[in-house]
Amino acid sequence: MQLVFASNNQNKIKEVQLLLPESIKVLSLEDIGCFEDIPETADTIEGNAILKADYVTQKFGYNCFADDTGLEVAALNGEPGVYSARYAGEQKDANDNMDKLLENLKGKSNRSAQFKTVIALNLNDTQILFTGIIEGKIITEKIGTNGFGYDPIFVADGYDKTFAELPIDEKSQISHRGLAVKQLVAFLK
Ligand code: IMP
Repeated sequence: MQLVFASNNQNKIKEVQLLLPESIKVLSLEDIGCFEDIPETADTIEGNAILKADYVTQKFGYNCFADDTGLEVAALNGEPGVYSARYAGEQKDANDNMDKLLENLKGKSNRSAQFKTVIALNLNDTQILFTGIIEGKIITEKIGTNGFGYDPIFVADGYDKTFAELPIDEKSQISHRGLAVKQLVAFLK
C-alpha cells in the first residue's frame, strides 16, 4: 500500500517510517511534487491535521495521512497548544519558541506538560482520526541535540532524559506521534 505523509519534516518522516511495516510505502510531499506551504489555519490540533490531509487528497488525489502536534503546558492553561509552531512568531523558530516558553514558566512550580498529536487519515473517501498523548514536564534549560522542536526541554514521565537526548528509535516508540502512528498501523492491518 502507498500512502502520502503530508510532511517534509525529515525528523518526522524518519520517526514515522520506523513504526510502519514494509508493506506501507510512504511518500513525502516532495515525492508527489507538492512544494506549497499547506495552510494550518484551524484553531484546533484536530482541525489542522484534517486541513493538511484534505489539501493533499483534494489537490493531488492521493490516500494520505497528516499529523498536527501541540505542546500543552498546564501552568499556561494549555498554551502554546495549537499555536506551538509560531509561539514566538511567524519565523517558526524552535529556539525562539523554547526561550519564550522557558521565560513564561519562570517561577512556576507546576511544570507539567503534554505533547498531543492527531493524525488524520484519508483512505478511499473515509476519514479517521488517531490521537497520541504523552505526559511529562518542561525542564529549566535545553538539553540534547537529537529530535526537533521542543524536544530539548521535554522529559517524559518515567524518564530522566529529554526527548532530544533519546535515540530516534526510542523516542518514536514512546512519543505522542509514535502512539498515534501505532494506532494508524493497527487500523491499516
Ligand atoms: P506541527 O505538527 O509540525 O505543526 O508542529 C507544531 C509545533 O510542535 C512545531 O513547533 C514543532 O516543532 C513542534 N513539534 C511537533 N512535533 C514535535 C516533537 O515530536 N517534538 C518536539 N516538538 C514537536
